[in-house]
Amino acid sequence: MSLPECPKCGSEYVYEDQPLLICPECAHEWNPNEEVVDEDAIILKDSNGNLLAEGDKVTLIKDLKVKGSSQVLKVGTKATIKRFVDGDHDIDCKVDGAGDMMLKSQFVKKA
Ligand SMILES: [Zn+2]
Repeated sequence: MSLPECPKCGSEYVYEDQPLLICPECAHEWNPNEEVVDEDAIILKDSNGNLLAEGDKVTLIKDLKVKGSSQVLKVGTKATIKRFVDGDHDIDCKVDGAGDMMLKSQFVKKA
């Protein structure tokens, strides 16, 4: 069995130390059987701990003031998640009666 090159520095002097592969040149260690996790994937949960997905319909669990206006989104207002965003307000939603808005996943629950 031939060992792969080091994914970090490309060294071919990788050796095996079960269950890991180790690179002597840059000291990188990794498990070749482990799935590579996409660290960019955003995993969001609603207020009940249910996983959210883009396209999910959610309802607000509390009244939310709309930044920069006097509008208040009432508890129970329905919204559809358009996409996840990496940030404080982590879901970009289409809110019934209010249009597109950034919300926080902890203030919604799956409808
Ligand atoms: Zn290396």
